[in-house]
Amino acid sequence: MNQTHFLNAKLADGTVADFTIADGRFIAIAPAANTVTPPSGAIDLAGQLVLPAFVEGHIHLDTSFYGDVWRPHIPCTNGFDVRERVAFQMRNLEQAAPMAERARNQLELCVGNGSLAMRSHVMVDATVGMKHVETILAVREKYRDLIDIQLVAFPQSGILSSPGTAELLDEALKLGCDLIGGLDPASFDRDVKGHLDVVFGLAEKRGAGIDIHLHDRGTLGLFEIEEIAARTTASGMQGKVVISHAYGLGDISADASAKAGERIAGAGVAIMTNAPGDHPFPPVAALRKAGVTVFAGSDNIRDSWWPYGDGDMLNRANMIGYRSGFYEDWELEAAYDVVSHAGAKALGLEGYGIAVGAKADFVALKAEHVLEAVVAVPKDRTVYRAGREVARGGKVGPKTR
Ligand SMILES: [Zn+2]
Repeated sequence: MNQTHFLNAKLADGTVADFTIADGRFIAIAPAANTVTPPSGAIDLAGQLVLPAFVEGHIHLDTSFYGDVWRPHIPCTNGFDVRERVAFQMRNLEQAAPMAERARNQLELCVGNGSLAMRSHVMVDATVGMKHVETILAVREKYRDLIDIQLVAFPQSGILSSPGTAELLDEALKLGCDLIGGLDPASFDRDVKGHLDVVFGLAEKRGAGIDIHLHDRGTLGLFEIEEIAARTTASGMQGKVVISHAYGLGDISADASAKAGERIAGAGVAIMTNAPGDHPFPPVAALRKAGVTVFAGSDNIRDSWWPYGDGDMLNRANMIGYRSGFYEDWELEAAYDVVSHAGAKALGLEGYGIAVGAKADFVALKAEHVLEAVVAVPKDRTVYRAGREVARGGKVGPKTR
């Protein structure tokens, strides 16, 4: 068995350890031995902090212009309007570089920053049909050795308001998408029951997970969250359903959000937030306290929705902490958990973490501890996939593609 030895890794608990990897997994982790004659070929991590690779829990590989020409942001006519933004996106995409090329740019950005597991939503509607799904499935295949990617069949133009979409979503799941998406059942399709009937129906038919975009605000958003939680419990899908954004949870009182948190946790529904700059967003600490799995993603990176995004989940942890008013150590730990272990739990990843038996997908970086990593966001990182170096200084190595 081919073994790789790493020396002097600082672990999240502060201990310094040596570890051995075989067949892409950790087979031994022990306190640093500091022997005069380390095993030949051993890699000395020199006390760098070693963390499991980050989890990019929500991204759009098909719609980013990262690496393409700059696309100036077009403002909505009368405040934020999902439908209008989708129309801008369609117009922009017609002039964009080939999708596979843009998706690869974005993937390598994420891997370079240390994410080796990802969930991407991929647009499915009557206009684009299976085009986006087929392209991104092919990109996923090409990058299989580098990063684990889950794909969500995402009804960007609604389901009921875009006839034929339910059939296309079914086709996308058949082709290889892992999850069924949804989009603002109330404000977009104006039919919460009808929309969720399709989503939960297809999930059951194909054995797929669910990840719904929910931008609806206030009590309307809360109502939809309660509906999704109730259906999750009724269909026995605990642990397989995610609500992305759930802005409504950011608009309600602390009492109401604590109550909602209990209901969400009880249904085993996870919440994804990217801590957006211009919206109230879910109260991360309160939801975690209620037992909810809260995780994160970059969401849009340089696309028709906003010009921001850098594919760096450690920077996302920093934003989540900053926007949440996290100052204490336990809060900074929570911000880190959101982009790592909680993400792995929400995505149902097998073998995540720095532990014997876990997959040796990790990041080495210069920080004293997790707390400093969250506040300082050190960019000098080396990324290892199955114990093999795949990226350094933000760049994916030429031999790893
Ligand atoms: Zn999204």
